[in-house]
Amino acid sequence: MSKKVVVLGEAREGALRNVSFEAIAAAKTISGGGEVVGVLFGDAVQSLAEEMVHYGANRVITVEHPHLKQYTSDGYGQAFMAVYEQEKPDAIVFGHTALGKDLSPKIASKLESGLISDVTAIEGEGDSAQFIRPIYSGKAFEKVKNKEGLLFVTIRPNNIAPLDHDASRTGEVSSLSVDVTNLRSVIAEVVRKATEGVDLSEAKVVVAGGRGVKSAEGFEPLQKLANLLGGAVGASRGACDADYCDYSLQIGQTGKVVTPDLYIAAGISGAIQHMAGMSNSKIIVAINKDPEANIFKVADYGIVGDLFEVIPMMIEEIQKVKVS
Ligand code: FAD
Repeated sequence: MSKKVVVLGEAREGALRNVSFEAIAAAKTISGGGEVVGVLFGDAVQSLAEEMVHYGANRVITVEHPHLKQYTSDGYGQAFMAVYEQEKPDAIVFGHTALGKDLSPKIASKLESGLISDVTAIEGEGDSAQFIRPIYSGKAFEKVKNKEGLLFVTIRPNNIAPLDHDASRTGEVSSLSVDVTNLRSVIAEVVRKATEGVDLSEAKVVVAGGRGVKSAEGFEPLQKLANLLGGAVGASRGACDADYCDYSLQIGQTGKVVTPDLYIAAGISGAIQHMAGMSNSKIIVAINKDPEANIFKVADYGIVGDLFEVIPMMIEEIQKVKVS
């Protein structure tokens, strides 16, 4: 049976996040030829709705309200429930982002539905879709199937490929008026940390350093390599705890989950808690002095050596290729 699937898009600083397009692709698979309805909340999101259509949504509903300018679970919860009541979909897809992780359990509990969270792949489509999700910090995977009722899924960013952008796709964009009231909390102010360059969560290349980097200055060659490859710098908790870098760079169970095309781990031993955040990367290169380091178990390419010798050599070789 074909399904109607509602997808929540996420905008940041006036642009849609990639995960919105990945969620549309997941919804297409789940719909089994049915309808994919994009949903956008904010205070000026009308212009972004077309973009969801170009990535495959059949139509898009926007809810604009000053209280939706910034995410609160109360505000987005009220807006989403209004969309749900209007559309009565068979399935819902959110990104497994900070927003999706916060909002999805609240909505699932209101709707008394199940929730299949942190999905990294979908096998089959329509009614026979099975959802693959990592368990035990990525040590194993389970396949989950929805037995009955509303299907509610969150998808891990960077795992499900979006459809190609096609500006010739057309679809209706409508707005729904929702009176977002009685917020129990409001965002008074957002104080941003000054970060430069590529966003770590969405980077295609991550160069991550661990305690083996030995100091804040030790991160400089890693930053140089990341810049050269158009990527971002990340870190283990060991490096953050030692004050070599900011906790916003931490990757792992209690940090960010990243799935870049290329992950270079330098001076990182490969603790299970670190691997929970990076083991799904497409290609993993590990540089470590210790040939027995655990990180080599998940690495596609292992380099046994001193990172302060290996990284400058990599930089030199990449520069040669870039120049020629
Ligand atoms: P170490 O384990 O000290 O490894 C340093 C490595 O560098 C060694 O393998 C060494 O051989 C190598 N090395 C040293 N010098 C060089 C050199 N010159 N060249 C090449 N290699 C060199 N950790 C995370 O990363 N992310 C998390 O989210 C996280 N969450 C946690 C949650 C909990 C509840 C707990 C208990 C722990 C968590 N940890 C997390 C910590 C984790 O268990 C490890 O302690 C941490 O990942 C170790 O960091 P590290 O690999 O940088 O350091």
